[in-house]
Parts: sequence; C-alpha cells; structure tokens
Amino acid sequence: MRFSFRARILFLIAFFALFVLAACSSRSPLPIAITHVTVIDVAQGQSLPDSTVIVSERRITQVGPSLSVNIPGNAKMLDGTGKYLIPGLADMHLHLTGAGEPTGSREFFLPLLVANGVTTVRDMGGKVEYLKKLREEIDSGKRLGPRIFFTGPYLDGDPPGYQPAIVVRNASDAHQTVAELKPQGVDFIKVQSRLSREAYFAIARESQTQQIRFVGHVPDTVSALEAADAGQASIEHLTGILVATSSREEELRRRQLAAGPPNESVDAALERSRTWQRDVLESLSLQKSAALLNAFVKNHTAQVPTFPVLVHMGFLTPETDLRGDPRSKYLSSELRKIWEQGRKGGLEHRTETDFALRREIVQRSLEIVGKMNAAGIAIMAGTDAAAPNVFPGFSLHEDLEFLVKAGLTPLQALQAATRNPARFLARANQGTIAAGQCADLVLLDANPLQDIRNTQQVRAVVLNGQLLERRDLDALLDSASHFAATH
Ligand SMILES: [Zn+2]
Repeated sequence: MRFSFRARILFLIAFFALFVLAACSSRSPLPIAITHVTVIDVAQGQSLPDSTVIVSERRITQVGPSLSVNIPGNAKMLDGTGKYLIPGLADMHLHLTGAGEPTGSREFFLPLLVANGVTTVRDMGGKVEYLKKLREEIDSGKRLGPRIFFTGPYLDGDPPGYQPAIVVRNASDAHQTVAELKPQGVDFIKVQSRLSREAYFAIARESQTQQIRFVGHVPDTVSALEAADAGQASIEHLTGILVATSSREEELRRRQLAAGPPNESVDAALERSRTWQRDVLESLSLQKSAALLNAFVKNHTAQVPTFPVLVHMGFLTPETDLRGDPRSKYLSSELRKIWEQGRKGGLEHRTETDFALRREIVQRSLEIVGKMNAAGIAIMAGTDAAAPNVFPGFSLHEDLEFLVKAGLTPLQALQAATRNPARFLARANQGTIAAGQCADLVLLDANPLQDIRNTQQVRAVVLNGQLLERRDLDALLDSASHFAATH
C-alpha cells in the first residue's frame, strides 16, 4: 500500500498529537467542578453552603459561592447538592511496609487507604528503600496512593523491640545514625521505648544540631516531661503519659524498669504488672497532669494517641477484639495469622481483672487527650495500621470517633486529621480547602460536623487532582479483597 507524502505527514502529525495528549492526561487529569456542595472550612471552623470548588492541574483553583465561580468548559462535573466536602485525611502513624513486601503495601494497604479518603500518611517505621520506591511509584502515577512522609528505621536500645532498627548506645552512635539517615531523605528521626537515657538525650541533641525533628515513643528510661523539654516533636500512643501524671511517678517508673525476680512465673509477672497499673490509676494527680500539659504547650509537643491500636490491641478486651469483623476479608492468610497471634498474645492468661484495668486505662487516656485538646496542644489522628485489629484506612475514621469521645468537637477531630498534620509537616499547601491548595478532597454524603461517623460515608475522593468516584473506590476495595482471597 502506498500513501502520498501529504497523507504520511498528516498521519505523523496525528500520531504525535495523540502521543502528546496521552502524556498530558496521564500527568494532569481534566479539571473537576464540585458544585452546590457544603465546604467544611477547617481553617476558619465554618461551613460554606452552596459552594463550588474547581480543581485543575492537581490544585484547588477556585472555591466560592456557586453563583460566582467560573466552571471551565472541559471540567468533569460532580453535583455536590446535599453533600459535604472536607480536605483529604491524614493518618499520622502507620507502617506501610509492615504487612509484607512488596505486595502488602501495594495490594492491601494503599487501596484501603485511598478508598477511605486517606490522602497523606506518616510512616513511623520501615525500610527507607521500600518506602522511597513506593513513593516514586505513587508520584509517577504508576500507582494510586497517598502522599508519604516517613521516618525510616527505629532508633532503639539493645535488643531493639521491632525491626528495622538501628541500635543507638551513646553520643557517637547518635551522631553517626542521624548523619546517615538525614541524607537518605527521612522526614523525622524515630525514637523507641528501649533507648537508654544517654542514647535518647544524645539523639535529641544530634537532631537539633543536624536540624531534623525527632518523634516517637517516650522511652521507659525517660519521663514524658523530660521528652517534651528535650524537644521531641510528637509523642505516639501516649507513651509515658499516664504514669507521668501520677503523684508517685518516680517510684512507679523505677518499678517499671526493675527486672522481676529470677525464674518469675508468667502469672507472677502478670500480677506484678497488674499491681503497677493499679498503682498508676490510683495515684493520678491533677497537679502533675497540669504541669505535664504546660510542658507540652511550652514545647509545642504534638500528640498522636493512636486510639485504634490502644483499644483494639494494646489494651485489648474481649469486647474490643475485632475477630470475625467483616473487614477481615481484606486480610491475606499470612496477615490473618499474624493478627491472630497478636490477639492471642493480648488475651492469653488475662482475667476479668486485667480487662477492667485496661478499660480504665483507655478511659483515663481519653480524658487526658480531652484535657490536652482543651489546653491547645496539637492532637493528630493516627492508627498504627496495620497492627493486629487495626484496618488501614477504616481505622482512621475510628480514631476520629475516639477523639470525639475524648472531648474534641467534630470540627477539632477533623482538624486532627487535616489542618494539624499539615502544620506539623510544614505543608502550608495541604490540609485545608482554598484556592492554591493541593487537590486532596473527600466528598461525604452526610455532615461530619453533626456526627463524626459521617466521615465514613465517602461518596468520592480527589487524590492529588484525580477524581475517584464511588464505583472507583469500590473497585479498590474489591481489588484488596480479591488479593486477600488469593494470598
Ligand atoms: Zn507504630
């Protein structure tokens, strides 16, 4: 077959035009217009009814009354009548690569996060090379996923509690470790429970010298007040906090660190820990908690309570055990085994006395978070997914419910998952709905300010400018359950 020269040129032009169009659309989706929606303005704490929001080039370009907003001709229209628009949600404590690599993060974790409107995450412990690869795949558009911030490995004592870990014993270890991690692009240094005092304070000094913030557990050797004064930027799981509000703090922390008698039986060890917990709960002091909260305010120490892991794992009781939950269909057989072991370990040898103590610890934890919030301390939502019983994505909504139980208003709970994390991460262009902000949005069928559980009624998600409607989100959920059923 022969083509004229002209036909061949036209064919080539058409070919290149197609190529260029395809390249553009993969980089930057079509504009989106969400019309007649109630925007929840978490920055000012107000609802803006009958608003229209335009998203273009991965940014929010206009927000205003529906009558005054210009809708681009090529925009994909989404009718927001009767619906509510909130910023994309952030889970400030999870472990993306904790569910088995390379498939766990990709086939299980990311789809569940996105389907639940989680558009930003802070990974609090994982291998740098895994996390960087995952982030690259998301940034390049190869994979749907949230914006990832990460700490890399845990800095811990010897032997470390979890992997991947770097053992830090002294100032020279601290210097070397921070100097190695920072150029690898970690956003924070993560400190863990088993660090010695020497190592912990060396890490604190080194982080300040090398200008990177450190976050994590308050080690057992350090008091929560000392951690705040040392500049720890966020405290996770309320570690060290209840005991720090006890009038007998020093004695109780000494007892916590002391080894049991030689050949101590399991039951004897459990009895010792029961007595310790009871002594903490019976000696809580208003004066001590006021002093601690003052230190958090003064030092801007943010708090990530991670109620889902506290309630469903750390202080597990038979009624907070999620075995048999319908969401178990998202768990691969391998993960199911790990979760089962976790639950067994949490319930075995425990009695009704233990469960009563655990319920009370959770209650006191909710109360102290309520007080922190009232004092103006930044609370951030976080889950510790995928720890046993902590479902990625879904658990972030559970945490919002716990935060409201703790005494935050629904607006404050939303801020804990939007504005507060953006501020903490120093991302001025995230966490709110306004022109110029990154296009991370969640469209809800019901008003989250009336009932925080309405954040679970997700109608659509805008993930970095890309619109995912309900059927797309359902397809993500289906892909996760299909993966689980076949692995
Ligand atoms: Zn964690």
